[in-house]
Amino acid sequence: MIDVRNVTKRFGGFYAVDDCSLSVEKGSITGLIGPNGAGKTTLFNIVAGAFSPTSGQILLDGQDVTGLPAHALFGRGLLRTFQIAHEFSHMTVTENLMMVPEHQPGEHLASAWFRPGAVGQRESEVRQKAEEVLDFLKIGHVKNELAGNLSGGQKKLLELGRTMMVDAKVVLLDEIAAGVNRTLLNDLVDNIERLNREFGYTFFVIEHDMDMIARLCDPVIVMASGSVMTQGHIADIQRDEAVIEAYFGG
Ligand code: ADP
Repeated sequence: MIDVRNVTKRFGGFYAVDDCSLSVEKGSITGLIGPNGAGKTTLFNIVAGAFSPTSGQILLDGQDVTGLPAHALFGRGLLRTFQIAHEFSHMTVTENLMMVPEHQPGEHLASAWFRPGAVGQRESEVRQKAEEVLDFLKIGHVKNELAGNLSGGQKKLLELGRTMMVDAKVVLLDEIAAGVNRTLLNDLVDNIERLNREFGYTFFVIEHDMDMIARLCDPVIVMASGSVMTQGHIADIQRDEAVIEAYFGG
């Protein structure tokens, strides 16, 4: 689904990403881990269209998307979850979801949630879809809450919900376990797995929480010093001495 080919990103003389190649298979939940400064965030920014690489190529579903901005990638079904912006915190949960298609290009609302016969009532369709997304995520009970009043974990679920409003194909998740309590973390893991299984979403996940990685991701790619050190099943990765050295050595 995503092919990173010999990507380099230089900041001045410093190679944050250095001739990095990796693939995220369609239908997988692929993890990206590595010590601080390994280049994970920079690589994510490149894949998400926030930065252009200094050199190298990014392919999305076989098509060259190198240097395309985030909104163009969005139109091709690649999305990154973002924290709910300040101005959205004063809107209800349902309204937050309803804003997504209005404010993003490349929208395509035809989806599994639309019932036949509802066409032509755009706002009510979008509202209906928002409510079905909330029910899917099991946060329908907070639909009329202001987004700013949600707990950290509920906000993450809402962020995931935003990706469902636009029928994403690939979702980049950036440290979503941070600050989320265990119960909601379980809900988040369950929902990511259901989106993967039932809707065929591909996920590419940066995460520091190893428990979350172990539960969710296969394979796991390890980055160090700007390129891929190794990849495989988390159980093998955790026994890999070079990986342990990269994390704890030096
Ligand atoms: P990770 O997410 O794995 O911790 P980053 O991608 O954030 O790693 O950073 C990789 C390296 O690139 C770090 O040494 C960081 O200081 C450097 N870096 C990241 N962004 C910039 C930038 N905009 N300008 C200069 N150096 C940067």
